[in-house]
Amino acid sequence: MSLTKYDYVIIGAGPAGMAAAVEACQYGLNVLVLDEQPTIGGQIYRNIEDLEEQRPGEFHQLGADYQEAFELAQRFHSSEAKYRPGRSIWQIDSDLTLYHIGQDGGPSETCHAPRILIATGAMERPMPFPGWTLPGVMACTAADVLYKSSGLLPRGEIVLLGSGPLLLLIACRLLDAGVKIAAYLDTNPHLAPFQALPYLPEALRGHDYLLKGIAMLWQMFTSGAKVHLGVTGIEAQGEAHLQKVQFQQGTATWKELTADLLLLHHGVVPNVQITRQLGCEHAWYEKQRYWEPVLDQWGNTSIENIAVAGDSGRVCGSANSVLTGRLAALETARALGKIDSSQQTALAVPLLKRQNQELAIRPFLDTLFPPRRPWLVPQNEETLICRCEEVSVREIRGAVRLGALSPDRVKPMIRCGMGPCQGRMCGLTASEIIADERQVSPVDVGYFRVRSPIKPITLGQLAGID
Ligand SMILES: Cc1cc2nc3c(=O)[nH]c(=O)nc-3n(C[C@H](O)[C@H](O)[C@H](O)COP(=O)(O)OP(=O)(O)OC[C@H]3O[C@@H](n4cnc5c(N)ncnc54)[C@H](O)[C@@H]3O)c2cc1C
Repeated sequence: MSLTKYDYVIIGAGPAGMAAAVEACQYGLNVLVLDEQPTIGGQIYRNIEDLEEQRPGEFHQLGADYQEAFELAQRFHSSEAKYRPGRSIWQIDSDLTLYHIGQDGGPSETCHAPRILIATGAMERPMPFPGWTLPGVMACTAADVLYKSSGLLPRGEIVLLGSGPLLLLIACRLLDAGVKIAAYLDTNPHLAPFQALPYLPEALRGHDYLLKGIAMLWQMFTSGAKVHLGVTGIEAQGEAHLQKVQFQQGTATWKELTADLLLLHHGVVPNVQITRQLGCEHAWYEKQRYWEPVLDQWGNTSIENIAVAGDSGRVCGSANSVLTGRLAALETARALGKIDSSQQTALAVPLLKRQNQELAIRPFLDTLFPPRRPWLVPQNEETLICRCEEVSVREIRGAVRLGALSPDRVKPMIRCGMGPCQGRMCGLTASEIIADERQVSPVDVGYFRVRSPIKPITLGQLAGID
């Protein structure tokens, strides 16, 4: 397969990737957008065009931002950008050659551009506890994906567990669609609102988000679902399928609920697989306890000609993703000589102003909904951490005691992070447990060294590379 060449390759057709492509095309750049999903929209606006066309009632129920996103999708389609859905990037070389495969099992293809934008979004932070791998227990966004992509809604006794704006948003979306939620187990610490208080004055600049949050809380609390606050421990139980959950609030005695479906949420974290594979510099974001690539205001990483936009830089929502995508595209237009520095600055001023407004609420939200220790470092040592290789907390602690002091040492010893997801799911938890065992910060422990292939690829596909 020959190497196809572009000016700009964008990975991800979510809000950040689409906005970057539209902006870049305006300056005459030859743009390719690759995304592993079958349709544009990314996580938040998944399947947006089909929704608008085939399920208009549900589309309008999803909110005004969907209308704006639909307009962005139309601008994206009418731009000159070449879009290839269903393509997963599994490797990028240091000379900026990209390798991608399709779900059809066809041969791996390559392309090249002098500038690459990584707009691969975020992923849900795993929430491990005893029983979290039982059928009937899943991430709350998985239920949202089923709803947005196929209109599927859950039935039976539905219990939600976790905290954060996305859990509330998805809960309210289910309620709006007529789903009955039996119980809402809120894991947020009681002190968090007080800790977030100093950031409230600044957050008032984003009062639309605050009002939306209050409305969602009201809807949840008045929905008839049993709301349990300050949940600190949980176990999911059942034979072949979830049947009940037991939970604890503080040091109170354990309570029990029957459940057919348990939806989890412990916040979202940047998807850093590609920036890690490339060796970009990353920094620890303490408030949300995740690593993020180190970026300048244009999204440039520590590696020349590689930039990041959207939630794969820091989780700040779709409106900020659009702005960071546009800023990154302006930088590429300047770097490739399509605009000069003064034009770039003039074009960026209104975007930076809007970004400043958009980001005003983030320190408040990030402090209000902190990730919690019982799920960062599960206390029950039999809890599975690496689902692919079935590695438990006890095995990770045991490896550390035998002298494996970092994730990369633990990995070959017990295969943690060596399965098909290549540590994407267990990476953060593994670092937290190793740090806890050593009584140091995850910063001192580091993260898995991510190697290609970052997505599973067959030997046949590998052999097919020219
Ligand atoms: C599962 C999930 C659901 C969410 N739902 C909502 C919601 O309903 N409302 C809300 O306000 N926020 C939601 N969020 C947060 C939301 O993702 C963002 O704020 C926003 O979508 C970020 O936009 P983005 O363009 O940075 O990334 P995304 O919208 O996530 O787009 C990233 C794209 O990159 C693609 N990609 C990733 N890796 C590869 C690869 N290796 N090869 C090829 N393509 C790749 C993905 O398929 C995806 O389409 C959700 C987050 C997650 C993780």
